[in-house]
Amino acid sequence: MPVQLDVRTGSKRELRDITSLVKEVISASGVQQGVCHIFVPHTTAGLTLNENWDPDVKGDLIRALEALVPDVRFRHGEGNSPAHLLSTIAGASETVLVRDGELILGTWQGIYLAEFDGPRSRRVLVKVVPDPA
Ligand code: ZN
Repeated sequence: MPVQLDVRTGSKRELRDITSLVKEVISASGVQQGVCHIFVPHTTAGLTLNENWDPDVKGDLIRALEALVPDVRFRHGEGNSPAHLLSTIAGASETVLVRDGELILGTWQGIYLAEFDGPRSRRVLVKVVPDPA
C-alpha cells in the first residue's frame, strides 16, 4: 500500500518542498536499499525536483512556467486550462533511489509538489520498494 501525504497548499501557484515528508515515509518503511516512487493524483498539480537552497528559484520557476502558457483559446469550461497544461509540463511522478535508508538526492535537490490551481488540499502518494533480497 502506498502512504498518502495530505498537503494543503497556500496559494494559486507555488512549489511546496515535501522532501522531509517523503524522508519520514522512508524511515517508517524501514527500507534500506530500494526505490521511492512519488505520485500526485491530480490534473492541476505536479511534481518536480529542483533547488532547495535559494528560495528565489521557486518563484523564478513559477514565473517562467507561467510564461510558457500560450495565448490560445482554451475551450475547457472550468477556466483552469493553464493549470492543466502546467501539470502536464511538470509531470505527475518522480522516482528517487534509496541507499542506506536515505534518498539519493543531489546536494541542492529537493522534492516539490507543484501547485498550479490552489490553494487546495492535495494528495501525494509515496511507495517505497525494497531491492530484491
Ligand atoms: Zn479543469
